[in-house]
Amino acid sequence: MAYQSVNPYDGKVLQSFEEVSDDDLETALAAADSCFVSWRQKSFSERAEVVAKAAAIMRARVEDFARPVTLEMGKLIEQSRGEVMLSADILDYYAQNAERFLAPQHLSPSSGQADVESSPLGVLLGVQPWNFPYYQLARFAAPNLMAGNVVMVKHAGCVPQCALAFEKLWLDAGAPQGAYTNLMVSYGQVNQLIDDPRIKGVALTGSADAGKLIAARAGKNLKKSTLELGGSDAFIVLEDADLDKTVEWAIWGKMNNTGQCCVAAKRFIVIDSLADEFLFKFQKALAALKPGDPMEEATTLGPLSTEAALIKLLDQVKRAVAAGATLVMGGERINRAGVFMQPTILSDITPENPAFREEFFGPVALFFRVKTEDEAVALANDSDFGLGGSIFTKDEARGQRLASRIDTGMVFVNHPTWTAVDLPFGGIKNSGYGHELSAAGIQEFVNKKLVRVALINDPAS
Ligand code: NAP
Repeated sequence: MAYQSVNPYDGKVLQSFEEVSDDDLETALAAADSCFVSWRQKSFSERAEVVAKAAAIMRARVEDFARPVTLEMGKLIEQSRGEVMLSADILDYYAQNAERFLAPQHLSPSSGQADVESSPLGVLLGVQPWNFPYYQLARFAAPNLMAGNVVMVKHAGCVPQCALAFEKLWLDAGAPQGAYTNLMVSYGQVNQLIDDPRIKGVALTGSADAGKLIAARAGKNLKKSTLELGGSDAFIVLEDADLDKTVEWAIWGKMNNTGQCCVAAKRFIVIDSLADEFLFKFQKALAALKPGDPMEEATTLGPLSTEAALIKLLDQVKRAVAAGATLVMGGERINRAGVFMQPTILSDITPENPAFREEFFGPVALFFRVKTEDEAVALANDSDFGLGGSIFTKDEARGQRLASRIDTGMVFVNHPTWTAVDLPFGGIKNSGYGHELSAAGIQEFVNKKLVRVALINDPAS
C-alpha cells in the first residue's frame, strides 16, 4: 500500500489509504482550477486572514499536530512540537509580508510609466518528503497561497495522517474548497498532473533521483519547477574552534531528526591538530544517546522513518566498509523492536569509495582529517551536492572568508546550517535550484509582468 502510516517505533500499521482514482483526481483538479479564479481576486488582507488563522490553529493545537509526526515517522516529540511552531511561524510570516514582497515595482523609463506586477500563475503541484511533514508543506503552501496561487500536494507515502491534518487545517481556517488539496496519487498520476495544462508549475522537495524525473517532466511541458534536493553538508572545524561548543553543535547538526535532514551535517572535516580530540568527544556524545519511544521526553535517539530507510543506510555503511572505510563506531541495527540504528562514524573514506559521493540520510557521520583550511575547502567542494555547510572558528572574519569559497547555497559560521522563515533556503548542483522561505520564496511562482504606459506621440523605440 503506497499510503500507509506505520509506527517506526514498534512496526505497527496504524492506517492505510487507497490511492485516488483518475475520476476523483479530475474532480479535485477541476475544483482547484475553479478555486483559483476567485482566490486570485481576493485582496492580500483577505488571503492573509485565512493563512494567519491556519497559523493560529496550529499554535492552539500543537499537541494534536505534533503527535501524528512522531507516530508516523518517529521524530522526537519535542522536535515535532518545534516543527509545528516553526510551520505556524512560516504561515504568519507570509500572511504579514506577502503584500510588501509582491508590491508592484515602479521602474523609471525615459518617458511614460513602467511597472512590474507580480501576478499568480494558477494551480501548482507540490511533491513533498516525509522528514518534516508540516514544515515542508508550510514553506510551499504559505507563500503560494498568499501570492494568489492555489496548491495541490502529493505528500510522501509514509505520512498520510500528517498530510490529511494539514489539508483539514486549511478548511478549518476558512480557505475555500480547492485552495489546498492533498493528493494520494501514484507516480503515474503525478506525471499526468504535470502534463495537464491546468497545472502551471511544480515544486519538489526530495531526492536527486526524483528531482531529475520531475524536472524532466516539467521541462517537457515547458513548466517552471523548483527542486529542493539532498545534500552532504560539510561541517568544518578549524584549529581555533571552541571545541566543546563545536562538539555540541556537531551532535545537534548530525542527530537532529535522527540525522534525516537535507541540511544535516554529514561530512565532518577537522583540522589535524584538533581531530583526535574532536573525534573522541564526538564519539562519546553520540554513544550517550538513549534510544527509546520518541513520544517520551527522555528519549534522545529516535527510530528512523521506515524499515526501508534503515535497510538502505545499513547497506551504504556495509558498502563503504567493503570499499576500505574504517568503522569508528556503530554501523548496526540496534537490537530491539522498531527501526533503530546505532549512531555511526566512518573514517578513511577515499574519493574512490562510493560513500565519498553519497548522501547518508540518518545517524551516520563521515569523518575526514585535513592539514589546512585550503584542504578543508577543497574537500567540502568535492561533492556532487551543494546545499549547506558550516565552519567552526573563533575568528568570524576567517569563517566568513572561507564561507565565500564554499560552493553551496548556504553556509553558516559557528552553527550547523539551519532554517529560518526570513532566510532564503536552497541549493546548487545536485541539491537543486530555486529558493524557499524569505522574500525569495514567494517570487518563484509569480508572473513578473511588465505593464508599460507609453506616451502615444513618442517615436517608436
Ligand atoms: P524521495 O524518495 O525523492 O521522495 C520525496 C517525494 O517525492 C515523496 O513524496 C515521494 O513519494 C515522491 N516521489 C519520489 N519519486 C517520485 C517519482 N518518480 N514520481 C513522483 N513522485 C515521486 O525522497 P525521500 O528519500 O523520501 O526524502 C529524503 C530526501 O529529500 C533526501 O535526499 C533529503 O536530503 C531531501 N530533502 C531535501 C530538502 C531540501 O529542502 N533541499 C528538504 C528535505 C528533504 P513517495 O513517498 O510516495 O515515494
